[in-house]
Amino acid sequence: MKKHAIIPIFIPHQGCPNDCVFCNQKKITARQPDMSRDEIINTIETWLSTLTGRPGIETVEIAFFGGSFTGIPLEKQSEYLAMAYSYKTQGLIQKIHLSTRPDYIDEKILDNLRAYSVDVIELGVQSFDDRVLKASGRGHDSASVYRACRLIQAYGFELGIQLMIGLPEDSKESCLYSAKEAAKLGPSVARLYPTVILKDTRLMELYESGSYLPLEEAEAVEITKEMYKLLTAAGVNIIRVGLKSSDLIQNEKEVAGHTFHPAFRQLVEGAIAREKMLRLLEEEFLSGRQPEHAKITFYSSPNWFSNMIGHKGCNKAYFASKYPHLNFRYKTHPLTDGSIAIAVAGEGHLVVK
Ligand code: SF4
Repeated sequence: MKKHAIIPIFIPHQGCPNDCVFCNQKKITARQPDMSRDEIINTIETWLSTLTGRPGIETVEIAFFGGSFTGIPLEKQSEYLAMAYSYKTQGLIQKIHLSTRPDYIDEKILDNLRAYSVDVIELGVQSFDDRVLKASGRGHDSASVYRACRLIQAYGFELGIQLMIGLPEDSKESCLYSAKEAAKLGPSVARLYPTVILKDTRLMELYESGSYLPLEEAEAVEITKEMYKLLTAAGVNIIRVGLKSSDLIQNEKEVAGHTFHPAFRQLVEGAIAREKMLRLLEEEFLSGRQPEHAKITFYSSPNWFSNMIGHKGCNKAYFASKYPHLNFRYKTHPLTDGSIAIAVAGEGHLVVK
């Protein structure tokens, strides 16, 4: 049951002076006017009416997305924040959430966010590797990331960190380094985005000229899986893995390369589930034996059942073909999300990983 609901308000950063190679927002927002006060109120009211009475929802957040909320003029920030704040003081929402860049954080900005009772500040960090940041045209370095994260935490805000996978000059090592550095900073939440090549971006030009080689889907899944494991082991809640088709993508035909997959999170969590299932089977049961026709049952929580089965049943197919002499079944069990258990008929116990 989903306990958390987010009311997304997209605030484009009109006139953004930066040149991130992967960004198509400047082209999109050039064609889009700012959201009016009425449009924002309408959006919030519509969401609230659909959420009212929905069982299990404990926290509702108004979230200002668009990348650089604190890069817009302070008066405009205050105008948007005042609307969210009035819903919070009436008890209609519980949290105010926004996303921005590390170099758009300072004391004056944070004082203003605190005055409007903002709860969560997510930073588009993308990488902790200065070579990657430079090659991606981010316009900030890793020192500004550490400084912004520490300042946000010193003010008592919840910190969110967004990382990208497969940017120019990136490697598996630099992605894992970024995940480790992010984990050390102790954010509450994180998002992991494999780089997607969008139309109307510098990255598309680099791709078309052959100067940028995107990751293959399997590589992107493998790297993201390891980052996911590092962050969750540090207690970070990963609230997004991969872009949704509705995010920045108007039309899937506007995407090149192989790194966009609408179910990317399931690919990553399915790979994690498969790894655990393999380890359980090999270490806890087979241990070098080759038993014929043993009945093996894998268990997961109801929420993780589709990950255990794998995208389009790929984990089921994998085990059936790798171990044709064994019989597999898949069931739900009241385990924590992400845990997998195994039981073997006749051996009467359940081992959990
Ligand atoms: S991603 Fe970069 S270029 Fe695009 S709006 Fe954000 S800061 Fe500006």
